[in-house]
Amino acid sequence: MKYAQERTASGEILRLVIQKMAAQPAAFAPLNYTVWYEHLAGINPELSMAMERLLSADKKLDDAVIEKLYAQFISESDLKAELAFQDGMKQLLGKVASFAEQADQQVSQFGNSLQNYNDALRPDIDLSKLEAMIGNMSQDTQKMHGSMQHLQSQLEASKQEVEKLNKELKSAQGEALTDPLTGVANRRGYETKAKAILADSAVVAKGISMLMLDIDHFKKVNDTFGHLFGDKVIQAVASMLKTKVKGQDIVARLGGEEFGVLLPETDIKGAFVVAEQIRQGIEKSKIRRQDAQDPIGGVTISIGVACFSGDLTLLMDQADKALYASKQGGRNRTTVFGQK
Ligand code: GH3
Ligand code: MG
Ligand code: MG
Repeated sequence: MKYAQERTASGEILRLVIQKMAAQPAAFAPLNYTVWYEHLAGINPELSMAMERLLSADKKLDDAVIEKLYAQFISESDLKAELAFQDGMKQLLGKVASFAEQADQQVSQFGNSLQNYNDALRPDIDLSKLEAMIGNMSQDTQKMHGSMQHLQSQLEASKQEVEKLNKELKSAQGEALTDPLTGVANRRGYETKAKAILADSAVVAKGISMLMLDIDHFKKVNDTFGHLFGDKVIQAVASMLKTKVKGQDIVARLGGEEFGVLLPETDIKGAFVVAEQIRQGIEKSKIRRQDAQDPIGGVTISIGVACFSGDLTLLMDQADKALYASKQGGRNRTTVFGQK
């Protein structure tokens, strides 16, 4: 399916699309909606690049521009992505089939030569012949070993190609890894990136921690100032998180007003320090409403911290439990999993 966002995520994109369409002259027609939807959902990078170029040059997106964008980047690119994928898959299957054929031939050759040696092994065979035979066998075995290693490295390369194709297909199917509201990773993006980091044993050996963060009493923010302002608060929290972490750290919006931060090469003490910097930064920040000069007071967040011990799901679960303890303890605080 091309549009893989479920109801909540697509509802969020819908709200953003309406805001963006309202600021432009094109009619609120389905083509216009589709163009904005694909751009904001982050599932059509080429379209997004073209739109960002137009918007940063202050070009008005009228019906004619929208129609062009749709024709160039949506109706055509669907077909292109599908053809490119099919083509890539065909080539790859051809390669793997020829590896398998080579392997088959080599194994049967090796089998034949073993059979020949077996046939030559008679009780009356003399010592010098036996010696020569063992020498040949050892050479054949080594040759076989070499071919198998070569084959294995070719298969490994094919596996990587399959993974790359798979990624391309996912992005063509609209399984975006980025959250459209904040521009940080979404839950799927977080899990994908975290898995890649956790697969590196050298990084894992240095310790990895995670923060789970949730805005306090966010319902009240929405109820008091409206959903649009609520969105602005979510964006402000995401920006704050980005400024407080280093390059290799991963910031993600895991759901509504909940964020996750993965901190590679950070022990639990270091993670607590980062969490407190973030928490205090949000507490001190003055988030303003566009129509009022007064900053609204009192946006705070609660944080849970946990340390990776071999399983990503467990890490997220422990960080979540610590977050829950922070909420129970009165909010606007950081709790480390397993510590009071
Ligand atoms: P707590 O301190 O216990 O976390 O209280 P809370 O009010 O934040 O609790 P809860 O998690 O129940 O409420 C979260 C609210 O966030 C509910 C939902 O309406 C709102 N929300 C979720 N996603 C969005 C969004 O994208 N934009 C806005 N404006 N609000 C959202
Ligand atoms: Mg909350
Ligand atoms: Mg929540």
